This record gives sequence, structure tokens and C-alpha cells, in this order.
Amino acid sequence: MTDVAASPAPSAPAAPLPGGPSLPQVRRLATEIPGPRSRAFHERRRAAVAAGVGSGLPIEVVAAGGGVIVDADGNSLIDLGSGIAVVNVGNAAAPVARAVAEQAAAFTHTCFMVTPYEGYVAVCEQLNARTPGDHEKRSALFNSGAEAVENAVKIARHATGRSAIVVMDHAYHGRTNLTMALTAKSMPYKAGFGPFAPDVYRVPMAYPYRWPGGAERAGAEAAAQAIDHIRTEIGAERVAAVLIEPIQGEGGFIVPGEGYLGALVEFCHEHGILFVADEIQTGFGRTGRWFACEHEGIVPDLITTAKGIAGGLPLAAVTGRAEVMDAVHVGGLGGTYGGNPVACAAAIATIELIERDGLVGRAERLGGALRTRLDAMAAADDGIGDVRGRGLMQAIELVRPGTTEPDADRVKAVLAHTHAAGVVTLSAGTYGNVVRFLPPLVIGEDLLQEGLDVVADALAATR
Ligand SMILES: *Cc1c(COP(=O)(O)O)cnc(C)c1O
Repeated sequence: MTDVAASPAPSAPAAPLPGGPSLPQVRRLATEIPGPRSRAFHERRRAAVAAGVGSGLPIEVVAAGGGVIVDADGNSLIDLGSGIAVVNVGNAAAPVARAVAEQAAAFTHTCFMVTPYEGYVAVCEQLNARTPGDHEKRSALFNSGAEAVENAVKIARHATGRSAIVVMDHAYHGRTNLTMALTAKSMPYKAGFGPFAPDVYRVPMAYPYRWPGGAERAGAEAAAQAIDHIRTEIGAERVAAVLIEPIQGEGGFIVPGEGYLGALVEFCHEHGILFVADEIQTGFGRTGRWFACEHEGIVPDLITTAKGIAGGLPLAAVTGRAEVMDAVHVGGLGGTYGGNPVACAAAIATIELIERDGLVGRAERLGGALRTRLDAMAAADDGIGDVRGRGLMQAIELVRPGTTEPDADRVKAVLAHTHAAGVVTLSAGTYGNVVRFLPPLVIGEDLLQEGLDVVADALAATR
């Protein structure tokens, strides 16, 4: 371990910066990345923080806003990750910061289960009104995405009196014990952490790029296989819920083949199975709709949300059919912090901001520009096997040229190149061979284009 005091002497301390959209929207390299202050910070971190908590780009953040993140060395990086699809409205968005400050000054916590308050109800009303379907709905609030998914499973089991849960290949639903069972990928999410919760069954996902029968047949064939598996090996009458991300997130931004979601919804309805959409990564305008189910006209019975809901504050929800949600006995759902008043104030401000600034339409428009660039990169590079996603949730899948063999090493090299050049990018995918793009919906188009120029450079440098 290096002594912090022995680390390279940092230059003059960076002046404290107000974050938010007033930060200069530029990429600026003041030092190498990570610079001396960030490196010293990481020595300190190594001695204090458990090694199991990783960081993709080890800088020390001091401010962020709009489409940039500023570090302790004075570098200004273009943000193509949004803290994993969380700050859709940008970091420290002024109306969100104001709502948080005002709520914190009024009261920070009473526990909704003890003495309730208006913000919680207002968030539930917004969710009930904005999620797909015009049936009567109810919502319940939690702290994290995983907690929302766990509660969706609790509710589905209670409401149906059945126990089996069906999930997909390549699925990601969280890191708690039940959600590890629901998640597909072993390393790093599950390895060494079992045993896992029982009565969880995995069925084929319509992954067009890798479907043996070809992309066109992926939706129909995968749905037929999934349904056959449920019928013959699980028993449809035992299944409480089919749980699916309408576009898979950690799995690599897989947009299910055409017809897959619709066929599953129909099968669920015929057999009294609840269709649960995990929109934790896809929600709140990310894909160019409020919720990704809207692209295919899908109306889930239950929907889980989190990430983009509250401008960066921890909040999550389950929203669904009133009769399903209300099936649970009083006291059966809750948690000390669930629907914390400060997080609820942030959510109300976030939802208003998405509406006020037309950010759903903006995600669709900028998503078109993003797709044009990614398609051009793919046309010039036979190591890009697939370009996919919707709105500002898109990705490229890297393979060895002329094959579909995953090239995770090149993804690592591309990320290292963009990080060193001041652009925050993320990987994804079961095989770790996907570069995903999740810029804030408020990012300036010039800044997005500049970030993609750097990605193109990284691809050229690693070809
Ligand atoms: C991130 C994510 C989760 C887990 O959310 P946490 O807040 O990290 O617990 C669950 N489902 C999906 C689709 C996600 O992207």
C-alpha cells in the first residue's frame, strides 16, 4: 500500500465547483487521466473501501452536470454513462437540487409507514398515470432497483397464490439473494454467493444477433421455446410471473426479436400468469418513450422502476394493476426508508423536468444521431458485429472479424482509450463484449458528437 503523503504532490487544489448544467459543457484534459489527485485518492480508497466494490474509471469526481463530469485534477470528461442510466435529467439539475434542499429543510424522514406525507403519494400518482395501460393502478416505493424487483415477486406470488418465477437468458435484476437468482450472469454477479433462492426458471431470450435461426426468426422461435419450457417443464399453473426487461440492460442492450414480448404477454394472460416488466434501466425517457414497453404496445401487469426516476437520489417503485397490488395484506409491503421524502421530492422535480424540457422526444432525436454514428462505425469495422438499442440506450457488440466470437479484450481496450481521452463509457453483455452508450438525455448534441469522435478514434486504434 502506498502512503497517501508519499503520492505525487498534486498541483493547486481545484476550486470547489457548483455542479449542474451551468458547468462548462466541454471536454478538457488538464492532466493525464487519472491525474495525481485522483491517484492519491485511490490509494486512500484502497485502504478503506472493500475490494469487491469496483470502479470502472478511477477518478475523484468533484462536480458534474449536463453532459460532463469534472474530477479533482480539473479534467472535464464527457459523460456517456449517466451513472448507469440514472441522471437522465443531468447531474445536479437545478430544479432537482432545489427540491431536495427545500424538502431537506422541511423534514428528512418520518417513515411513510409511521406518519405519511404528500410526496410519496404524488410520486405514486405520477407512476400510475405515466406507466403503460389506462387500467386502475397502485404503486409502492422502495430504495433500490433490486428491492423493487424483490417486492414485485412478493406481490405476484401473493396475488396469484403460485410460486414459480420465469426469467430470461442474459437477464439482470440485481444483487440481493433473490435477484441474484433472477440474474443470469455468474461472473461477477453470482460467483461464490450461493445458494440462491429456489423456484426460479430460465427460458430462452430472443437475442436476434445470436439466434441460431437468424434475427428474423428470433422472436417467434424464442417465444415458442420459452412457452414450451413453461408448459412442459415448469407447469403454467405453477407460474406466478414472467419477469423480463423489455430491452435487456447489463445483458448487452438486447432488443428482443419482433413478436417475442407480445407472444409472452398473450401466453401469460391465457394462463393467469402476471407479466412483469423490469423497466429499471429503460424507464423515464431513456429509450425515446416514457417506458420501453410502449415501443411494442405492451401493457405489463406489474412494472418495476428505479434508476432514472429521481435525478440520482435512491428511489424505486413497483406499479401495477390495483387488484394485484392491493392483494397484499396491510403491513406486508414497506421498509424504513422506502419512499424517503427527499427522494420523492427529487422524483417529482425530475418527472416535471422530463415533461417541461421534452426530454423523451429529445432522447428519440439524439438517439437517431447516435444510431447514424454507430452504423457508420460498423460499416467501416468488421469487428462490430451488431448495433442495437433505442433512443439514448444503444450499444455495439464487438466480435472477431468474420465470426460472431465475442471480443471482450477489444472492449477493454476501447474503454481504456476513451477513458484516457476524457470520455466516460461503459461495457455490458454476457460475454463482456458490448460497449454501451447511456448519455444524459440533456447532453448537448455537439458534446455527444465529440464523445463519439473519441469512440471512433478508440475503435480505429484497436482495430
Ligand atoms: C440496475 C438494475 C437493477 C438493480 O437496480 P439496483 O438499484 O442496482 O438495485 C434491476 N434491474 C435492472 C434492469 C437494472 O438495470
